[in-house]
This record gives sequence, structure tokens and C-alpha cells, in this order.
Amino acid sequence: MSLAKEILPEDGPKLKGLKHRQRVLRARKKIEAFVSFVFGWKLQEFQKHWHEFASKYKRALIFAPQAHGKTSEMSLVRPLFILGQDPNRILKIISCNDDKAVDILGAIAKLIESNKKLREVFPSLKPAERGTWTKHQITIKRDISAVDASVEALGVLSTGSGDRATDLLFDDPVDFRNAILQPALRKMVIRAYTATWLGLFAQGEERITYICNAWHHNDLTHEIKKPNYHYHILNQAISKDFKNIEEWVGARRGRVRHLPLWKGVWPPRRLIQFSEERGSLDFNRAFRHQALESRMFPFTKGLKASTILMDEDAELKDLEAPQDFPRFTGVDLGGIKKQNAQSAIFTLAIDPENLVRWPVDIRAGHWTGPETARQLLDVYKKHEPFDIFVENNAYQHTLAEWMEEIKGGRELPIEGYYTGAQKLDLQIGLPGIALQMEKGLWKIPDLQHGPTCKCEVCQWREELQDHPIGSSDLLMSMWLADRAARRGEEEPRIRFIGGDEEEDEEDEVFEGVMSRVF
Ligand SMILES: [Zn+2]
Repeated sequence: MSLAKEILPEDGPKLKGLKHRQRVLRARKKIEAFVSFVFGWKLQEFQKHWHEFASKYKRALIFAPQAHGKTSEMSLVRPLFILGQDPNRILKIISCNDDKAVDILGAIAKLIESNKKLREVFPSLKPAERGTWTKHQITIKRDISAVDASVEALGVLSTGSGDRATDLLFDDPVDFRNAILQPALRKMVIRAYTATWLGLFAQGEERITYICNAWHHNDLTHEIKKPNYHYHILNQAISKDFKNIEEWVGARRGRVRHLPLWKGVWPPRRLIQFSEERGSLDFNRAFRHQALESRMFPFTKGLKASTILMDEDAELKDLEAPQDFPRFTGVDLGGIKKQNAQSAIFTLAIDPENLVRWPVDIRAGHWTGPETARQLLDVYKKHEPFDIFVENNAYQHTLAEWMEEIKGGRELPIEGYYTGAQKLDLQIGLPGIALQMEKGLWKIPDLQHGPTCKCEVCQWREELQDHPIGSSDLLMSMWLADRAARRGEEEPRIRFIGGDEEEDEEDEVFEGVMSRVF
């Protein structure tokens, strides 16, 4: 204030210059001011706590909700700030894989090369005249001579990580792939932590910041919560009512503080929608740090036991389910309800002798209503299923309307299957199918299409493998087809269309309520 008083109104530009100078000086000392000046971001209170915690403790383990700016704050802002204050530090940024590491380092390098505001705050933070400047390593101008680059960014399982480090910055090193998809990698990640990464510490003054989501009960993140790893632990989780962020310190939930949500980015409405779409298990993992366990993936064993390895580039029809096995179809209208979901039609043939299920037709797509009706009619003409089960909800009647509009549509034996809360019913219904698969009562073709294939069979396998994480469009239709087949086992018959409603109150109390579509 006293500074401002000495300046006359006509000295406006001078005052502006002084204010600017003040901001630059503050940005040099305070990370909050640094973020605001260089990046133009307002540091959220929960993010501020990450930086404070990481500065306070030499071993800081931070659990923070997914997509809340972890990488921006801790792998981009923080390294620049650390190096700006002390160019002699040697940083390793460790994430789940090399691609992510390269992206992070690319962003850091670009800012050092050309960001004017960063240059203003830390004028001597610039590339070294002689030193590496690659996609994995960069070296800035410093006073010491060291073998290691100033910043190196790598995937957690990389080798060749150099000799020495002063700071290890772990940024979600555990991911879906190395925690769940390939369980054997869990141990390798833990071994890499001890052998590769801790091996870079020589002096005892080194620091580790580890920021993450929870994944699995036996992964690295869970391992280092144990007292012998000497971490201080900060937890931030979205509250049960989605209204704030709960924060507590330590391995066990202790005294809880409440912090505001990320206003404008993650309002309660969006959090709730997210949790509905992804299911509570995955939401609780990603936003509340409740780790998953192997037993939570119901199809792992079944997929192994029921897989039929096909010739390369085979198609589903090459599985050749015998013609005389009765067919049943399930229809999920997910794509009509939710924007990003697909609708799916799953048809299986069942061996009346040993009850083995053979998929004969799987199709899914972002179809319009009439397109869905046409697809269904096509399935009916090809496979003549005994029963077609459609999830019984408001859309079932819409489907009926579409079917009525196409020629022959009214002849289909469609029944509504009342599922109640869809997710809940899947959770109850799917373990039964998982068990069938474990007993080899399914034929699940492996068409050897490679990991990126998005054909319906590969999508189905992927959903089985990942469930309950990820989409379940095809699982829902598979489940409905199986329900139809189960009823068919007892009483295979063709449904008549347009009859009275009264017959529908059958003995299906346990299985759900039936209603005819037409
Ligand atoms: Zn495929």
C-alpha cells in the first residue's frame, strides 16, 4: 500500500509494472503464485495440499481422485518449480508406461524452451549448452557436472534409468494393465520400485512424491502403505454424498477434513453421472481409493476355461454351432438411453444335451431406433430364435413401435424382461454365467485379432475380461440371451404375438417379471 501511495495517478503504467514485478517475485517463491502467473490456473485447495504435503515430507504418498489435475500439478508444474529453485537437482518422473512419460517430458521441454513467463520467473532455467535433450531426458544449465540428465521421464518398468536421482516423482505408476490385466506385472512393478528406483538414492536427502489412484490390493501402491516404507500418506476422496472432498492423513481413515469440490470442473451432477455410468466399484476405486481384488473380476477363470482358439482371422460363424440347437436372443437398448453406449443383440445356440452355449451372432452399434429394429429383424430371419428377451423398461415399448413399422416386425417373439436396477441385476446374474464358463459350458472364440480389434467378438471378450470395469453393453445382451435360454430349457416354445396379457404372470418371480412386447 505504501508503495502505491507514492505513485500518482498519471503513473499508471509504472504501477502496473511494479505489480507485475511483484507477481514475478512471488512466483519465484510460492508455487501457488507460480501456477497462477505461468499457467494462468487457479490452484484448488485440494491441489494446494498436494504441494504442501510433498514439500513437507521426504516420502509423500498422495491418493487423489482421478482426473483432478494430478499430472499437471505434480509432473509438470512441480518439476519446473523445483528446477527453477535449484537447477542441480536430478529428477525422475515415473509413470505407468513410456508413452505417458514421453508426453510429460515433451510438455516440460517445450515450456523450458519457449515459455516467456517461465523465463521471466526463472531466467536461468534453460537447456544446458552441452547435455541431452531427447524425448526421455533433458538437461538444463547447472553448476554441477553430473552423469544423469536433469529430468528423465520413464515408465515404471523401464530399465536404463541412470545412476542417481535426488527426486523421484511417481505419477500413477500403477495402471489397469500392470495391476489387473496382467497380474504377473504387479510383482514386477514392486520389484522395480525397490531394485531400480530406490537404487538411485545414495545420499539420504532424496525425496519421493508418489501420487496415484488405488487399483489392486496387492499392487505397489498398496505395498508402500506399509510402515516399513516410511511414507506419510494423504488421502482425498469424493464424499459419499458427492458434495465435497474428504481428506485425512495416514494409512487408516482418521479425522476427516472437508474441502470444496473442483468448482466448474467436477460439480456433484457430473460426479453422480460418472458413478452411474461406470458402476460403484470402479467409481469407488478411482475417486475414493477403494482397491480392487482379483475376486472382483468374475470372468477371469471362466474366460480361460471356455475359450476356443480359432484359426487366425476366423469369424464367429466359423464356430459352426449345429443347426438343430435352439437359438435365443438378448437385446440391450443401452445406446438408446445413454449417449456413449451401444445397443447390442446377442444370439446363442444351446446344446440341448449338455447345455453348452454357442454364440452364433453378436452385433452392436450406435444405432438409431429404426436401425435397431432392422438389425433385430435380420437376426430373426437368420437364426429364428425361440425367444427374444429385451430389457423391460420404457424403451421396450419404443422398440415395439419401431418393430411394428417394419414389415414382418410384429411376428417376432419378443418378451420384455424386467431387470429393475440394471447394474444390480447384472451383479446378481453374471456370477451364474461366470460359473457356467468355468465349467466349460460356453464356447468363447478367440479369433486372434490382436489387442486393438473392436469387432463384436473381441469387444465381448474384452468386456468379460474387464468386468465390472468398463462398458457392459454386450454383457447385458449376453445375459438376456442366457435368461431366455434358461427359460427355454424348461419350456422351449414359440411365443405368440398379440395374445392376452394374463399368461404372463408365470412362475418367474425369482427370475424377473415378464411382459409381452406386443
Ligand atoms: Zn476382433
